[in-house]
Amino acid sequence: MMAPSSTRFLPQIAVLGTGGTIAGTATGDPSLPGYTAGVLGVDALIQAVPALGDIAQMQTEQVANVDSKDMSFAVWTRLAERVMHWLAQPQIRACVITHGTDSLEETAYFLSLVVPPDKPVVLTAAMRPATALNADGPQNLLDAVRVALDPDARHIGVVCVLHGVVHAAHDVAKVSTHAIEAFSSGERGPIGEIDGQELRLWRKVPPEAGAPFALPAKDCWPRVELLMNAAGVDGAVVRSLLESRSLQPPLRGLVIAGTGGGTVNRELEAALQEAEARGVAVKVASRVGPVRGGDDDGLSAVKLRVRLLLELAAADATQPSRTD
Ligand code: ASP
Repeated sequence: MMAPSSTRFLPQIAVLGTGGTIAGTATGDPSLPGYTAGVLGVDALIQAVPALGDIAQMQTEQVANVDSKDMSFAVWTRLAERVMHWLAQPQIRACVITHGTDSLEETAYFLSLVVPPDKPVVLTAAMRPATALNADGPQNLLDAVRVALDPDARHIGVVCVLHGVVHAAHDVAKVSTHAIEAFSSGERGPIGEIDGQELRLWRKVPPEAGAPFALPAKDCWPRVELLMNAAGVDGAVVRSLLESRSLQPPLRGLVIAGTGGGTVNRELEAALQEAEARGVAVKVASRVGPVRGGDDDGLSAVKLRVRLLLELAAADATQPSRTD
């Protein structure tokens, strides 16, 4: 359909909905905290922000409508495919994705590893449901679209825009269960901010952004489990994972949120050595924050797991078949 003449020359953005609190609705009194995430469609989110119509033409797609605690490899695969589909259209300047806050950092980092960085991909979310009297989603969505359109953001890759702050996919993490400013980029800090209508970039996006991995085929995601070192933890869970013959797919990797600078206790370490000896890939991050130095570039445990998933899937894809 031909766009009305007033919008015909506006830049085009693809806005993909995946659910989350930004698409959530309260079941009763909108001033009370109870709500269900992932209810409204992406078109409804856009309609709530009339100012969007003055700056861009939106092409929308509902990729999923889930609470992001339930994010799955199937939704990730579909989302990455659709992002790449839209970005391949010459008229589309960027993709904006609406998402839940709970696993936002994992999805952002995943996309940064599989989507070519030629055009911006901007994720946004909200801490309050769309029906809240003081909903934060509409402003976040407007800010996300502004970042996506900004000429300075052309090579920004995958970022998250929340509460006027621009975070790199590599660094962003949810750090509060309730505060409206729920995200942090830790020691590295955010890469920029939206000041009024303007994007101010404070630093370059980390160089690792840039699609080094192929998207795993639909049913070819390996099993990588995530464990934590803590007082009294021993090697029992690792050993039972190693012994379990019924696990499908079988265990290929373990990521540990270690203590301090990425340490594990002696018993867990012995079990992890056994795992490695049996061909399981083992990576250790820290439950505290980024570990300086080393190969893992200060990644959190959840993001290290994302990278290991993609590394193992890529290794599997080069082998004719796995028999174990
Ligand atoms: N549970 C919600 C989700 O991640 C929380 C949110 O979006 O703030 O989908």
